[in-house]
Amino acid sequence: MIMSERISNIKPSPTLAMNAKALSMRAAGIDVISFGVGEPDFDTPRHIREAAVQAIEEGFTRYTAVGGIPELKDAIVEKFRRDNNLNYESDEVMVSCGGKHVLYNLAQAFLNPGDEVIIPAPYWVSYPPIVTLAGANPVVVGTEEEGDFKLSPESLEAAITPGTRLLVLNSPSNPTGSVYTESELRALSEVISKHDIWVVSDEIYEKLIFDDRPFYSIAQVSEEAKSKTFIVNGVSKTYAMTGWRIGYVAGPREIIAGMNKIQSQSTSNPNSIAQKAAVVALNGPQDSIRTMLEAFDERRQYLVQRLNAIKGVHCNMPGGAFYAFPNFSHYFNTETEGETIKGSVDLCEYLLTEARVALVPGMAFGDDDFIRFSYATGLETIKEGLDRIENALEKLV
Ligand SMILES: *Cc1c(COP(=O)(O)O)cnc(C)c1O
Repeated sequence: MIMSERISNIKPSPTLAMNAKALSMRAAGIDVISFGVGEPDFDTPRHIREAAVQAIEEGFTRYTAVGGIPELKDAIVEKFRRDNNLNYESDEVMVSCGGKHVLYNLAQAFLNPGDEVIIPAPYWVSYPPIVTLAGANPVVVGTEEEGDFKLSPESLEAAITPGTRLLVLNSPSNPTGSVYTESELRALSEVISKHDIWVVSDEIYEKLIFDDRPFYSIAQVSEEAKSKTFIVNGVSKTYAMTGWRIGYVAGPREIIAGMNKIQSQSTSNPNSIAQKAAVVALNGPQDSIRTMLEAFDERRQYLVQRLNAIKGVHCNMPGGAFYAFPNFSHYFNTETEGETIKGSVDLCEYLLTEARVALVPGMAFGDDDFIRFSYATGLETIKEGLDRIENALEKLV
């Protein structure tokens, strides 16, 4: 059958693929421990769920304005003012069906075929295909584990060409958990201001930062930086609302208008009920975040300490999100039953079969030396999973 060229250029999300494999093993009665999940293991807080029930009861079940109800846009404008000291008008924000959808709309509205988009690696799995689907070219720029996987101003400068349109930043990062400081973002912004390039700042993990470190957005650097930055955020991670599908963007109104146009001819408005719930998430009590963060912090400390105790493994301490990204390259070129483990994919497959532990290979994030561990799962499970991994690794020769 003839398919579009567009579709043959991309692969399905590898994190979802790994999860699917683990789920089918589970369905077959095998007890699989998963470090693969990319979502909080908490329930959406009660007051948010109640707002959704109320929206249903009140019949708030019809089409809404394409880019979000005014109430939610107001809540978003207020959030940026309150949390980030950034002022936007309501036509500079827009609501879509999750942060991923925001990124998709942005690529469709902003990029032309052949445009270059700089993506620091390790990167979130969906960035390159979203760029490719818009006909543009992802330019992957590697970072160093020693530099906590952060893009340096020098590497950024070296990657910029006359074709560069956009830089993607993600802090706190999925998969590394690293968090850019204010001075690091100022240094990147200096490079950016010398060129005619724009920034997408994916701030979906803004509220999941440990050790009371402050969050800083590159849009806060200056008015000029703000005028060339799109901030992507959403309720999925902060309020354990991944299934509700609400994400939002703030940025220059001309492009936001373009994104509205794309959305009006594709998905139309995000779910009306979820929008009402998101208003309450943003405006209501925020203490559920602290509770979740404390649980993540305990798991983070435990997981990272255990990983670093495994022979040959090294793991940086993540500053945010709920992932650890240890280096497992010590186990490459080892053997199991005559088969050589060549890289992160082989190792993850071995650990899934031998240890019944699901992980995501670093290859999916653009750095094959690593494996991503999500700790959005209970401490006991983490413990058992690590015991299994240690046992399986000992069998490799
Ligand atoms: C989870 C995630 C998103 C978006 O998630 P949505 O559920 O679509 O809002 C965006 N960026 C990163 C890095 C993520 O991990």
